[in-house]
Amino acid sequence: MLSAATAALAASLVAATGAPTPALTGVVVNVDPGHNPGNAAHASQINRIVERGPIRKACDTAGTSTNAGVPEWRFTGQLATRLGRRLRAQGATVTFTRANGAPTWGPCVTTRADLGNRANVSISLHADGAPPGARGFHVIRPGFVRGYTGDISTRSLALATQVRDGLRALRGGIPPSTYAGRDGIDVRTDLGGLTLSDVPKVMVEHGNMRNAVDARLLTSPAEQERVAAALTAALVRWHAAELR
Ligand SMILES: [Zn+2]
Repeated sequence: MLSAATAALAASLVAATGAPTPALTGVVVNVDPGHNPGNAAHASQINRIVERGPIRKACDTAGTSTNAGVPEWRFTGQLATRLGRRLRAQGATVTFTRANGAPTWGPCVTTRADLGNRANVSISLHADGAPPGARGFHVIRPGFVRGYTGDISTRSLALATQVRDGLRALRGGIPPSTYAGRDGIDVRTDLGGLTLSDVPKVMVEHGNMRNAVDARLLTSPAEQERVAAALTAALVRWHAAELR
């Protein structure tokens, strides 16, 4: 990982040579891969109720899996690694809420939100476990929770729209959800990771792991790269619109 100082130096060198400054230079992006490989073995820890403000929830959950047994945490970790690489190539400083591959547990939803709040923007990566006939992705944005999300709702909606547009444009990719939200965007007020965020944030359910077609795409390295590229491009567009 580049330190912020190294990233700034690299950006100034680029500027000195006349090459274009990478689009996300100076932006800290928090990537939040859902769940963790150690969660299932730490049931008492992850089932502990955490509270803050309107939030009273289990610390974390084990997540879902494909019918063939590929766990959601593996998908989210793989996608997070690919996304982080692409965001750094655009000049961003990238932080993660958990390491990929380490058999740790958690962190709790409250800690995930705290880690996101140290960045400029945060994106949570998940996949769903819906009935097998249901398909598609949906981008969840924070709904209005008085005293909590009023300051981030408009900017998060803009981010959700860019992410939805990017994922929807992937030919042969996973389409917008047939079972949740509307046109690939849902709004929730009951998710701690969104409600406790002080920075623009979305949570992406990338597809239904219990659907055979979605599962094949979710576990495809090539498709994960396309999704990571679409998310990166969405963040670039969102950031550029904020600067205008
Ligand atoms: Zn999940």
